[in-house]
Amino acid sequence: MDRSLLITGGSRGIGAATALRAARAGWHVAVNYVRDAASADAVVAQVQALGRQAVALPGDVADEAQVLAMFQRLDAALPPLAGLVNNAGVVDVAARVDEMAAARVQRMLAVNVLGSFLCAREAVRRMSTAHGGRGGAIVNLSSAAARLGSPGQYVDYAAAKGAVDTFTLGLAREVAAEGIRVNAVRPGIIDTDIHASGGQPDRAARLAAQVPMQRPGQADEVAATIVWLLSDDASYTTGAIVDVSGGR
Ligand code: NAP
Repeated sequence: MDRSLLITGGSRGIGAATALRAARAGWHVAVNYVRDAASADAVVAQVQALGRQAVALPGDVADEAQVLAMFQRLDAALPPLAGLVNNAGVVDVAARVDEMAAARVQRMLAVNVLGSFLCAREAVRRMSTAHGGRGGAIVNLSSAAARLGSPGQYVDYAAAKGAVDTFTLGLAREVAAEGIRVNAVRPGIIDTDIHASGGQPDRAARLAAQVPMQRPGQADEVAATIVWLLSDDASYTTGAIVDVSGGR
């Protein structure tokens, strides 16, 4: 297998776990990041130690010029693209809707929604048989928040992930006859840095009792589903939204 996978936000958390699982499954991996070059470089070294090619690619997925530059570097660095994981995502501090500044909501939609659109667009241009490509698979990271709404926490984030769900359904049907499968994973409460970035470093442990399985999930448990959706084992699965949330 000589095919490459781009993981946005691959430097930490669910993205980094996905990079390692994908490498074990035979993928060459491009690890996108926006800030933390050292973590991205560490993931690249781990993928290379597994015998696959890897490259770290800086770029803010919410910035079209940076996305275009990232894909150009990817084209030059690795074998042809056959997979994309739209994993880069952000939350913000807990707030009610009646407290939210426009800039906050715009950032939430820009990174979580626009970023997924821009990266998927570039991937489809490369992978679609309608564009001369050889097909591929896209996995979008949604969230259980899309179902729950996250009142009093981050309704803006939840709404952005609701848009990711609908984007998944529409794009899946749009490119289904062009060799590309598009699916989404909706993680529940997963033990990563994202909670600290929203000012709640203890959130995963604190909310564990609300999870039917009584524990937060691990990044690798989400990565397992992502890598399955990318694989030929999921060859008839498209437009699916898979909950990985311990029953929550
Ligand atoms: P995380 O640990 O906070 O890691 C976020 C990753 O995204 C980092 O690699 C970060 O890069 C990158 N990133 C952030 N903004 C970016 C941007 N504008 N452009 C490019 N990369 C960017 O997050 P996580 O918990 O692994 O979450 C991964 C995905 O799962 C997100 O979409 C999140 O919404 C979703 N999710 C997570 C949970 C959870 O409980 N953890 C639950 C449901 C859904 P740097 O290292 O350079 O900062």
